Amino acid sequence: MKFCSKCGSANIEFKVPPDDNLRRYCCNDCNSIFYSNPNIVVGSLCTFEDKILLCKRNIQPRLGMWTLPAGFFENSETLKDGAIRETFEETGADIKNLQPYSLFSLTHISQVHFFYLADLVEPNYGPTAESSEVELFTEEDIPWDEIAFPTVYKTLKYFLEDRKKGNFPFREEAIKL
Ligand code: ZN
Repeated sequence: MKFCSKCGSANIEFKVPPDDNLRRYCCNDCNSIFYSNPNIVVGSLCTFEDKILLCKRNIQPRLGMWTLPAGFFENSETLKDGAIRETFEETGADIKNLQPYSLFSLTHISQVHFFYLADLVEPNYGPTAESSEVELFTEEDIPWDEIAFPTVYKTLKYFLEDRKKGNFPFREEAIKL
């Protein structure tokens, strides 16, 4: 941060404000304090019959790799609505029966990733601005070597493991690099 977004001053200092314990960007002219907090990524593992919906990324990072539909949570929406919106934006699919499933704290990049399990309302999906291909995959066909993100890989593995037992407990995990 170079300039104060309140007063425009360049007199910005990265310091621990009074009565705080973490360093923040502080404006020495208007005394504004700027807090930076983790971003939340929300998405879904949605199925139709025994198949899982994956999309091939048409955007950076990890362009051309496969992922579960997911993206940054927006202000003023519920987490569930965020998962429904992201799934639609990336795959064109409508989902139902959302169930909280996996939660990852990625401390090294200050992100939280959250995935729901869900069902496709109908097998209607296709390429979008964000996905060059959208496909339903059987377990045997999942492109494990081309999965874009570790949290997607882990969520897929958990799901396939749980499906054998017919029980889908909520998972929470910290990922530290
Ligand atoms: Zn200021």
